[in-house]
Amino acid sequence: MSNSTKYVFVTGGVTSSLGKGILSASLAKLLQARGYTATIQKLDPYINVDPGTLNPYEHGECFVTDDGTETDLDLGHYERFLDVPTSQANNVTTGKIYQSVIEKERKGEFLGKTVQVIPHITDEIKHRIQLLGKNGDFDIVITEIGGTIGDIESLPYVEAVRQMMWEFENDCIVVHLTLVPYLSAAGELKTKPTQHSVKQLLEFGVQPNILCCRTEHELDLKLRRKIAKFCNVSMNAVIEAKDAESIYDVPILMQEEELDKVVLEKLHLPIKSSPSLTKWKAFTKKLKNPVMETTVGLIGKYVELKDSYKSISEAIIHAGVSNNSKVNVKWIHSEKLTENNVHNELKDLNGILVAPGFGSRGIPGKICAVTYARENNIPFLGICLGMQCAVIEFARNVLKFEDAHTTEISEYTEYPVISLMEEQKKVSNFGGTMRLGAYSCELKAKSLVSKAYNTELIKERHRHRYEFNNQFLKDFEKNGMIPSGKNPKTGLVEIIELKNHPWFIGTQFHPEYKSTVINPHPLFVAFIDASLKYKEKNNG
Ligand code: GLN
Repeated sequence: MSNSTKYVFVTGGVTSSLGKGILSASLAKLLQARGYTATIQKLDPYINVDPGTLNPYEHGECFVTDDGTETDLDLGHYERFLDVPTSQANNVTTGKIYQSVIEKERKGEFLGKTVQVIPHITDEIKHRIQLLGKNGDFDIVITEIGGTIGDIESLPYVEAVRQMMWEFENDCIVVHLTLVPYLSAAGELKTKPTQHSVKQLLEFGVQPNILCCRTEHELDLKLRRKIAKFCNVSMNAVIEAKDAESIYDVPILMQEEELDKVVLEKLHLPIKSSPSLTKWKAFTKKLKNPVMETTVGLIGKYVELKDSYKSISEAIIHAGVSNNSKVNVKWIHSEKLTENNVHNELKDLNGILVAPGFGSRGIPGKICAVTYARENNIPFLGICLGMQCAVIEFARNVLKFEDAHTTEISEYTEYPVISLMEEQKKVSNFGGTMRLGAYSCELKAKSLVSKAYNTELIKERHRHRYEFNNQFLKDFEKNGMIPSGKNPKTGLVEIIELKNHPWFIGTQFHPEYKSTVINPHPLFVAFIDASLKYKEKNNG
């Protein structure tokens, strides 16, 4: 290994959805709190190069990093927990691995050789794992292997882990997250599935060093002893991972179980100071003891699968805590919203958020929600497509541009108030070709956004092809829609707000990606604050 970086591999057994992402993020948080620099990487065993072209129903939200990589939503958890940005190297997919191996093969880098899963694919995986450790930026790299042990797709990853455990035995450990189910008929917790999943790992040549056992009930000493004995781990390496009230409790629970301490011991690293987690604990305390309460609506077309809006709902939680308020989110399906039911559906809300999205499904409902928020002075936050809907609504109902639209939906509309960006016109491939990642935005003095951010120049992350059409800017400005944020280089309108409305903001970028526990996003904080004020004025 090129430097002293240590590697922790997190694998999952028995079933999916045990929370490897949250466990990895919690462990990283504890190590960070002990003074170590840690980062987390996700290895996804699917063949898509990235999740950018996946339907959210398949995969939940697509998270975007500063460097413009479309990634798995777990990277959002990593950033929210650690408050450190991730990048391209933090998410590797089988698609990416094969793409680069095949590119190398075409270039002739393996001339004369048969290109095989072992060693070529596994070498590429090992290279990607070590990439994050190479610059010496991190003491510890935590690599989460997607999927469940035994899946055919993840075999090359497990083999890469086996090789690294063998080659760098003092610098690598495996934490295996498993399930200890409770059988109510027997009134007992059962360890057999865990034993089997460890056996399966052993078949692949990997002995886990630590077992984190998801359970609904306490793991008593007897059970811990049994698991330790059957799975060849030390007693203190059997960690109880009891169901938590909130994901934000997990680092605290893992600290109580001393997961971080055991990890450091096994990596032969000094324990250093004990993590105080002062800010983190203050956050969870406020989360559990809100002083106020408000309700906002989230209007989107994927609301059946809440993971599609993960970063938005987490940003709302952060902003609620920052306002000492509980925030109830009413999830509203945009396809079901019409002029006839909009009043009934939205009348009890103190804030309306229209979500991002692609394609025509649900757009009329989103536009109805915008009209309702605009006409009734309800705080409004439109994100990406949500902002575009606000522009379309204003064009149709205030400027009287009949059938104004985005050219994404109506290519030949007379009023293309949202249109394809110039550089997008020559794009023919769908994957990874949107306007992606962080761009600068200059805020207009004295605007709502400049108040919220309390600065003039911001950087926010984008993921879109269409954009406000500056050809119509004057008409909008004359009638009270203000471009309160612009890209300083290109003049693209990145934020709009309304002159005659208490709090109405649309952003072409996605503020939700940058909200963290320690740094809740200023726009979400201001949105929740506005909703509390609206509530006080109207129902208080
Ligand atoms: N579909 C719109 C575009 O491509 C908005 C994208 C989004 O909401 N992320 O511009």
